[in-house]
Amino acid sequence: MSNNIVILGAGVTGLTTAYLLSQDPANKITVIAKHMPGDYDIEYASPWAGANYMPVGKEGSNHHAWERATWPALKALCEKYPEAGIHFRDSLIYNRKKDQESATGQWFSELVQPNPWYKDVVPDFEAIPESQLAPGIDNAQKFTSVCINTAVYLPWLIGQCVKTGAVFKRAVVKHISEAADAHHSGQKADVVVNCTGLASKTLGGVLDDKMYPARGQIVVVRNDPGEMVSVSGTDDGEDEALYIMTRAAGGGTILGGSYQKHNWDALPDPNLANRIMKRAIAICPKLVKEGEGIEGLSIIRHGVGLRPLRDGGPRVEKDQVDGVKIVHNYGHGGFGYQASFGCAEDAVSLVNEVLQSKNLSKL
Ligand code: FAD
Repeated sequence: MSNNIVILGAGVTGLTTAYLLSQDPANKITVIAKHMPGDYDIEYASPWAGANYMPVGKEGSNHHAWERATWPALKALCEKYPEAGIHFRDSLIYNRKKDQESATGQWFSELVQPNPWYKDVVPDFEAIPESQLAPGIDNAQKFTSVCINTAVYLPWLIGQCVKTGAVFKRAVVKHISEAADAHHSGQKADVVVNCTGLASKTLGGVLDDKMYPARGQIVVVRNDPGEMVSVSGTDDGEDEALYIMTRAAGGGTILGGSYQKHNWDALPDPNLANRIMKRAIAICPKLVKEGEGIEGLSIIRHGVGLRPLRDGGPRVEKDQVDGVKIVHNYGHGGFGYQASFGCAEDAVSLVNEVLQSKNLSKL
């Protein structure tokens, strides 16, 4: 028996879910999306991400479980498929206790604490001795993480799905139930997986008012400092951030950033861009040659993306709208890559539950 599945959305969430579902030959998959890899648009979060693995889920939460489950998958891709555009990278994490109450400090609170759950997940976790800490830093740690070149990784995921017969189509859907009519077989889909990110706020049949953006501004440069760096906050504003990561396979170095909740502005703010570059050089002087300031940075582009945040955390659950069976997988905020496999595995289990009851009813 074959299963007709439509996945709505081709960001990292839709593509990871498609990748896992496509490993079962019984699944006939159509992915439909307004935006596909190659597009840069404020409505499409995935291309703007760094993207690295810096766990932020609170211990004991679903978020924690999804991030924990994702590390082995990213590590395996990194080791087995260099063409996927993921590489290992040394990572330095700096905590300043004074950032605790800020928007950025709260976002990073699990990442920067001295005894986080992920110390037993990532390789080479080590606390940096107090004697080596710069003034103002209360604790610091290092470990090996990954950095994903999103411009290579997202197309790679598409390639893996196309290889097993999945069909990709451009379409804009006004109501989630419409997606069920878009299956490439011409038959109605047995199940629709909703991976529309922030658009779940306005998509008919979903209209999730718990969704809101956290605006992230970045500068992409050609300079390569070596390791990745993340700091708990900045002195420039409580929703500004400081992180540096170099993407695999020539993807450039991302300097971030910001975490501006409820801010939808698609245009890069030049003053914020200056602060991002100055802060990056201050924390990591080897980004530029000795004595140089921001003029030593070779800029590829400025960018802005909207992290699809959801009050209460991501929605990974079954639903039914106008008789169409739905599995939702959206609302991954600033952790869509680092929780991608954990969330997609849960979404696949829910899809299988829907398909099982369909197949049983046909017996
Ligand atoms: P999206 O990528 O937004 O994709 C949504 C898809 O749905 C698109 O294809 C869109 O066209 C489609 N769609 C929406 N509505 C419709 C419709 N009506 N009809 C048809 N198609 C529709 N995460 C990490 O894990 N690590 C990081 O280092 C990291 N860094 C980040 C840095 C920045 C600056 C930003 C902005 C985000 C970062 N993130 C990071 C977060 C990550 O990018 C997001 O969580 C993730 O991209 C969300 O993916 P998604 O597939 O759910 O949504």
